[in-house]
Amino acid sequence: MRTLSLLGSTGSIGTQTLDVVRAEPDRYEVVALAARSSVEQLAAQVHEFRPKVVAIGDESLRPDLVAAVPAGTEVLAGEEALAELATLADTVVNGVVGFAGLRVTLAALSAGKRLALANKESLIAGGPVVQRVRSTPGAALVPVDSEHCAIHQCLRSADDPAGEVARLVLTASGGPFRGRTRSELEHVTIDDALAHPTWSMGPKITIDSSTLMNKGLEVIEAHELFGTDYDRIEVVVHPQSVVHSMVEFTDGATIAQLSMPDMRLPIAYALAYPARTPVPSGRIDWTSLRRLDFEPPDHAAFPCLGLAYAAGRLGGTAPACLNAANEVAVEAFLDGALAWTAIPDLLAEVLGGHDGGTADSVEAVVDADVRARRTARHLIEREAIAR
Ligand code: MG
Repeated sequence: MRTLSLLGSTGSIGTQTLDVVRAEPDRYEVVALAARSSVEQLAAQVHEFRPKVVAIGDESLRPDLVAAVPAGTEVLAGEEALAELATLADTVVNGVVGFAGLRVTLAALSAGKRLALANKESLIAGGPVVQRVRSTPGAALVPVDSEHCAIHQCLRSADDPAGEVARLVLTASGGPFRGRTRSELEHVTIDDALAHPTWSMGPKITIDSSTLMNKGLEVIEAHELFGTDYDRIEVVVHPQSVVHSMVEFTDGATIAQLSMPDMRLPIAYALAYPARTPVPSGRIDWTSLRRLDFEPPDHAAFPCLGLAYAAGRLGGTAPACLNAANEVAVEAFLDGALAWTAIPDLLAEVLGGHDGGTADSVEAVVDADVRARRTARHLIEREAIAR
């Protein structure tokens, strides 16, 4: 039986992880659960899965959680508690949203745990710092992001990935605005951007999918995970979201991973690897799947993708800076304080002011994150005044 510590248990990845656990109750034991602020939902999960320890990120909610869980459950609170929970099981699922997931990633890998990583910001913002703890004895990083999970699977066909891989090809659904020009995108609403055609995900990542920033961040994530140069990572738009990504080898052979768009497959893969388990996600129906389309991304309508490549190539704290500014921009868009087309403009301005700092410590990354957020907020306020 594998013990699990699930951080971000009430979010999209968290609830789908618990679906996987429900389907395989003899394989997994949930020993720790944590969420940021959803006390009621977290307490219901505690009643169902009976972990020994539970944590809430927002410290002010600790008394509410204590009152809602069964007696004898240890209750922790605060951001550090989340990292503490990452050391309690042999497998850690990091489904924390945003930059806050970095400490969880570092804690899990430093403790020699298997990390099922859904928090892509850890690798994007803190890549160089995370690389240093990946070699901790016992530590393993298995990506939960569907594209990277696909590449992880495709790479299993290579004896010598470093010598045999020519290109990684990440697929992108194109989001709800695929095919629209920049001028057609001037007045899109929050609801338009939240209506993803193929994937059901949380609001932050759904907005990132609409701008293609999600794919841009995934390019950086792929570079950090697999050590592939940016020149050899390509993005192709594939609206059906059935091919989850591909690896092209030096002889021109391409291996792709196909499955229905359902996050429970990459979650189950990361939990059970190297084994495969029955997953409660659908199978491809080859009698109804008539076509698989591919097209190049439109960089003019979706400048976020190019900005992510630029930040990745700059390296150091530039990806952290871009990621932080993007979190602020998406929040402002969801609050109605920023137009959708202003998101890349804002990011370009913040990235343009990046100081070339190196990401040699957590503190340096946190500092770059804080400064980029401040700059982004300042620019949004200035725009609001100018309007
Ligand atoms: Mg993805």
